[in-house]
Amino acid sequence: MLTELIQRLPKAELHIHIEGSFEPELMFEIASRNKINLDYDSVESLKNAYQFTQLQDFLDLYYQGMSALQIEQDFYDLTMAYMQQCKLENIVHAEIFFDPQGHTHRGVDFATVINGINAALVEAEQNLGISSHLIMCFLRHLDEQDAFKTLDQSLAHQDKIIAVGLDSTELGHPPQKFEGVFAKARELGYLCVAHAGEEGPAQYVKDTVELLQVNRIDHGNRCLEDPQLVKSLAYSQIPLTVCPLSNLKLGGVSDMRQHPLRELIDSGLMVTVNSDDPAYFGGYLSQNFIAVQESLGLSKTEIVQLVENSFKASFLNDELKQQHMAHISSISSEWN
Ligand SMILES: [Zn+2]
Repeated sequence: MLTELIQRLPKAELHIHIEGSFEPELMFEIASRNKINLDYDSVESLKNAYQFTQLQDFLDLYYQGMSALQIEQDFYDLTMAYMQQCKLENIVHAEIFFDPQGHTHRGVDFATVINGINAALVEAEQNLGISSHLIMCFLRHLDEQDAFKTLDQSLAHQDKIIAVGLDSTELGHPPQKFEGVFAKARELGYLCVAHAGEEGPAQYVKDTVELLQVNRIDHGNRCLEDPQLVKSLAYSQIPLTVCPLSNLKLGGVSDMRQHPLRELIDSGLMVTVNSDDPAYFGGYLSQNFIAVQESLGLSKTEIVQLVENSFKASFLNDELKQQHMAHISSISSEWN
């Protein structure tokens, strides 16, 4: 069993929506202190509602859950709960998504959201020794104008944000819809990532690379439907942030033994393993590693490679990447 090795290796997580780490218990606690009604009368009944057949089913609940978050302290508590989980799992670096429009559209200020999240990240770095970067996602079901507005709001906080991303409903909202705002974000000095090929076709992955000029693709699974694209991703080594339990829970795969991670690895792509929205999908990062290790029979070498990839694909500088790589290598070489 490689479970213990998975636990011991220092890991980076590159695809985690902070609002998707909102555990029902904390959600009820925060909703109650803010006097917000959640439409569910208990933690149990809320958990029972986590039955999804596609991405949209989850998104409907995800936006509802967010409504409990009102003041800076709420965003701090949400973020600190995830960072404490990182500590338990030996995640030493996290690149975290947040969805400002999910809050500003409810009347919560951009500054409230980012200041709460950032305070927890600063404290986690000091007290827990976990480094992090923040990635601001645009909601793709909204129009590009709204994304431009959000980009403007971010400028006062640019020192806290490393990249922009793109999430929410994929089908019917192709990457070209956001070509202008991504160009502007790059011009302003942001790095770029975007969800693609989770539910959308291979063409969305191709267009995300070519039109949005991303540094990483979030998910990317359906690139496998286009052999030419797979070749070009293997050549460029643009990283894919794959989320196994999310794919299972949202119906992207019906059985973990058929998860495309195996084929992505065998095709020579730069893939990483991540948790996406762990409070909703049944497991944090280690659980995702364990699920694919068991179902796909990943070897020790493959697990170590995936963990190394999580740092290589990160936005850490080369010196820090080398330090983490050396640490991984010393642990794995002692492991029989
Ligand atoms: Zn995601």
